[in-house]
Amino acid sequence: MIRIEDVIAKVTANRPGADVDLIRRAYLFSAMHHRGQKRASGEPYLVHPLEVAEILAEMRLDEVSVSTGLLHDVVEDTLVDLDTIRSYFGDEITLLVDGLTKIAHISNLSKEKQQAENVRKMVLAMITDVRVVLIKLADRLHNMRTMQFLKPEKRARISQETLDIYAPIAHRLGMGKLRSELEDLSFQNLHPEEYKRLSAEVDSRRPELEAALTKIRETITTELEANDVPFVEVQSRVKRLYSLWKKLKKQKIHIDQVYDLIAARVITPNDRKYCYLTLSVIHNIWTPVPERFKDWIAIPRDNLYQSLHTSVIGDGGVAFEVQIRTEEMHRVAEEGVAAHWKYKESSIGSHEDDDTLDELRRTVEKLLLPLVEANEDNEDSEDFIESLKLDLFPKDVYTFTPMGKVIQLPRGATPLDFAYAIHSEVGDKCTGAKINGRIVPLRTELQNGDVIEILTTQNSQPTRDWLNYVVTSRARNRIRHWISQQQREESIDIGRKLLEKEAEKFRVAPKKFLNNEAEMTRIANDYGLSRPDDLLASIGYGKALPRNVLAKFLGAEKFEELDPEKKAATKISNGMKAVRKFIGLGEDAIVVKGVDNLLTSRARCCNPLRGEDIIGYISLGKGIVVHNKRCKNMGQLMVNKDRIVEVEWAKTEKDEKQSVQLLATTENRTGMLAGITNAIADIKTGIRDARAHVSKDDIGLIEVTVEVHDKKHLDKVISAIRHVSGVIEVERINP
Ligand code: MN
Repeated sequence: MIRIEDVIAKVTANRPGADVDLIRRAYLFSAMHHRGQKRASGEPYLVHPLEVAEILAEMRLDEVSVSTGLLHDVVEDTLVDLDTIRSYFGDEITLLVDGLTKIAHISNLSKEKQQAENVRKMVLAMITDVRVVLIKLADRLHNMRTMQFLKPEKRARISQETLDIYAPIAHRLGMGKLRSELEDLSFQNLHPEEYKRLSAEVDSRRPELEAALTKIRETITTELEANDVPFVEVQSRVKRLYSLWKKLKKQKIHIDQVYDLIAARVITPNDRKYCYLTLSVIHNIWTPVPERFKDWIAIPRDNLYQSLHTSVIGDGGVAFEVQIRTEEMHRVAEEGVAAHWKYKESSIGSHEDDDTLDELRRTVEKLLLPLVEANEDNEDSEDFIESLKLDLFPKDVYTFTPMGKVIQLPRGATPLDFAYAIHSEVGDKCTGAKINGRIVPLRTELQNGDVIEILTTQNSQPTRDWLNYVVTSRARNRIRHWISQQQREESIDIGRKLLEKEAEKFRVAPKKFLNNEAEMTRIANDYGLSRPDDLLASIGYGKALPRNVLAKFLGAEKFEELDPEKKAATKISNGMKAVRKFIGLGEDAIVVKGVDNLLTSRARCCNPLRGEDIIGYISLGKGIVVHNKRCKNMGQLMVNKDRIVEVEWAKTEKDEKQSVQLLATTENRTGMLAGITNAIADIKTGIRDARAHVSKDDIGLIEVTVEVHDKKHLDKVISAIRHVSGVIEVERINP
């Protein structure tokens, strides 16, 4: 078993000033908390974090990364929480461990194969620090290396995930060696039969392939020396099994038709001119295949890979590939970003580390961005690359259903957006939400990796409030649609009642025309509407006047004949009755439900309070505006008597409250404000605002906004204030 001292020796060899004590403490902490745990192999669990730390030390990463490698599974797999980690190891390591724990969480959840794309984005979204990627890759590499003890299904799942998510990330980061190992291990565990068959096929050819490779190496070495071209090493290899398998499958060819089954590689000293010199020597020995030459030195691949690739026709007409690159290019090709890291840092003092880290972050972001394939505009990417943290998805947040399905939402999205993203029914019936098992308010902003459970009840309905805390257009549109649907139904209802009342005034049986579909449609058409319901809705909204609609129904002559106002002049008794019913307290008043929706709203001028006598005024486009019967504008409103309707307060449904502003005139002495607010609080009434000032003539003026249910409640509040000693008068101010 690997020992911590081996890891420490590696770190200090690469970084003489490293904080070895930190690594020791991380080791002890990890050993203590993983104590008694075993891996599937039966070994102590501690082997895993130790090996991960070893891989990180191998990559020459800093002591913080290595320590995090030791601690990376502590939160996920033991009872230790992040706060404990923080108290022992500080913020930096805590952030890294947190990132790794979240990623672990994702892969536990995501079981649907087709989500690979989303999960990859999600993993990337979780990465807030470059080192998290590298540690995660090291973690995955060790798990892949030791997965023979797992059940085949689990091996297949982890391998698939590695192929879908981690190998592409390694590739993007230019970490060729790690990627190859991940891919071959995945292939082996995912398709064991095919792996066996293919490796047997290659093995049966191996002696002849090895002989050919030896000959190629010797020829190259001899020719380079003969031409005085310096080189560091000539390598050769048989194509990796996974990439060979992919090629065979994709091109549907036989193994003997693969032109790059074997390849040679020349590593030159660190000057690109040696690469081109080597190339000319190679092309002098064998005939190149023209279309297969690639100069990745002049134009590096976007993952920073640099090399010359050429295919030549060897002895016996067998083609093979030769790669030519400098030592430095080779290190980058094998280790990618990790090489970049150590290359930069090995010669730089710790005090410049921050700049190096920044630059590295930028590089990593640039490399990973194409994997994101986000629908972002490119101009934006410049901006967020500037930020210190990796933020590959500044506009998106990735969340999960309890079943592990990924739901991608814009930043700022809430559980309501999530609910509507699942299904509009789920949104409409949403009553609450749990995030990661805890009940939260519906306006809570979702975070990457949150698991969200939506609570629904059959009877619940969207409210207008919801519009304030959804960000997706899907949710917004659906809520709006629901509200307008709702309002339309209410307005049809009100329109019908208004029309019925009007009909009664004219002593016409309402059913006679309300049920006359053809007539109603004709009149609707007159108003440019298509159906009777549209007409009723229009009346409800105050756009069409019931009196005019009735006139159209009755015809001008009949209308005049029946008009109660005309009749009042002649047939006084009947007229009086009609008028009394109209103005007096009839049983058929319109019921004002929630004030302040589109259909009924409180008049600003008098701000009527529940319990006060009210009257409705049908205003154009605003539906029924409810006024206090004693409103100073009443006289003016009565000019349009046609538009006045009887209204009354509906029974309170909920704990509905209304803000009312009061002005108390008091003696000018200390404690007045406190006395008044105490008096209000004593009768369990909410205060929204209270402020005191003194008038020029030394009178205390205290404005207080209270929340009351109705007029009775308000009277109680006023009376309570009046009883406070020093209060001279209390009055209500409108609105
Ligand atoms: Mn692990």
